[in-house]
Amino acid sequence: MKKQRHITILGGGPAGLAVGYYARKKGMPFTIYEAGGRTGGNSVTLNVEDFFFDSGAHRFHDKNAEMTEEIKGLLGADLKRIDIPSKIYDDGKFIRFPLSSMDLLKNLGPRTFVKAAGEVLRSHLTPGDGGEDFKSFALRAYGNTVAGRFLLNYSEKLWGATCDRLSAGIAGKRLEGLDLKSFVIDSIFGSRGEARHLEGSFFYPEGGIGTISERLAEVCAEENIRLSSKITKILHNHTRIQGVEINHVDSVDTDEVASTLPLDFFLGIMDPPPPEEIVCLARGLRYRNVVLVAFFLDKESITDAATVYFPDFRIPFTRVYEPKNRNVSMSPLGRTSLIAEIPCQEDDDLWTMGDDELIGLVKPWLVDINWVKEKDIIGATVSRLDHAYPILEMGFEDKLRRINAFLEGFGNLRLSGRNGRFVYSWIHDMMAFGKEIVAGY
Ligand SMILES: Cc1cc2nc3c(=O)[nH]c(=O)nc-3n(C[C@H](O)[C@H](O)[C@H](O)COP(=O)(O)OP(=O)(O)OC[C@H]3O[C@@H](n4cnc5c(N)ncnc54)[C@H](O)[C@@H]3O)c2cc1C
Repeated sequence: MKKQRHITILGGGPAGLAVGYYARKKGMPFTIYEAGGRTGGNSVTLNVEDFFFDSGAHRFHDKNAEMTEEIKGLLGADLKRIDIPSKIYDDGKFIRFPLSSMDLLKNLGPRTFVKAAGEVLRSHLTPGDGGEDFKSFALRAYGNTVAGRFLLNYSEKLWGATCDRLSAGIAGKRLEGLDLKSFVIDSIFGSRGEARHLEGSFFYPEGGIGTISERLAEVCAEENIRLSSKITKILHNHTRIQGVEINHVDSVDTDEVASTLPLDFFLGIMDPPPPEEIVCLARGLRYRNVVLVAFFLDKESITDAATVYFPDFRIPFTRVYEPKNRNVSMSPLGRTSLIAEIPCQEDDDLWTMGDDELIGLVKPWLVDINWVKEKDIIGATVSRLDHAYPILEMGFEDKLRRINAFLEGFGNLRLSGRNGRFVYSWIHDMMAFGKEIVAGY
């Protein structure tokens, strides 16, 4: 009888858990190795006393019907549809997201509104050429007013690179969430527009986004998950991954391997090392980190938005969310919280700055925009997310293609994950990657 193959899964974030989940469904044996003390990676719900908040402003997007059904099956009644718009903080005003025509007119004024709408609608008709940078793309697709006012500065803050250095194609994927063009079209044509307001409608689990990771881990089962098990070496014979080293001490032989480790890290611990050309390409892949600064408040409510975006460069954070607006159980009765996201690089001062300093950096802005008073703040904390997302700089596709061509030479290796595949992707994508990998065995 043919021996059943075993999958060694590297990393216990949503991507690794999804591979385990589908392997379990198929009855394939597997082991997940996770460096940290818990599974869930960058998709967890954190907790300080009675306050809960996610590792970043997460929502489950209804963009892949099959994966939505899978998560509905996994969470049952605990997965709720949420309909709540976001906002953009623009020059002292909050602009509703999706925009209503009244709101847009009120905030931009009639002249700017007509100018912006005209540019946006005209740009719709302008064909684009492939391979352009994000700045050219945004100006071409959204017009000078909308791109200049909302997109370019926000994107530069978020990605930490000037927009002419960012790739249009995939940085553009982020805009599906912003979808300004359809908001403008809708604000003019009302329900006749073709807008899909992903920003305002999504799924969210009771207890926070981490519930998805927790349920996946439950299906994977404790006996198949090794926590505090950092992969420190990838042992190979140039055509197969033969084993992995754990915590610099133990090694295990491998049969099938599914890696969700950041691609540059994976290549960096290969033994023997990859050719110098591949090592150089891997060094050219950069990732963005995110610092979360959470404030716990003795106030019933602050905003009526899912997320508030801050394109203004003077403000250190890119967005703020109020967890309670996703699910009331995220804050104790009569109280709420605000979580600010600060994207940064590993070598930025912001990444190494002390907690008190970070809290002191964010707080004055929350006071300045009249959200909180000093006396409302009953606590604050800082969390740091490393490898929050890959930075999709111009030319990254070519680097990735050459790295992937090298790794395809390993017959028993599959890649998954946001950083493992170096693709800007979401929880439903992690599920789809897991399904596709297991179906291939
Ligand atoms: C701020 C923010 C907001 C987001 N918002 C959304 C959203 O609204 N909707 C959505 O669908 N997605 C969202 N995402 C994306 C989502 O969180 C990611 O797609 C998802 O976490 C990626 O899963 P992953 O398993 O690929 O990587 P990760 O979550 O990064 O998990 C990787 C895991 O591998 C482990 N690991 C790393 N190195 C090693 C090693 N050497 N050995 C063993 N284990 C290792 C890590 O500890 C980690 O647990 C957001 C992400 C961020 C950061």
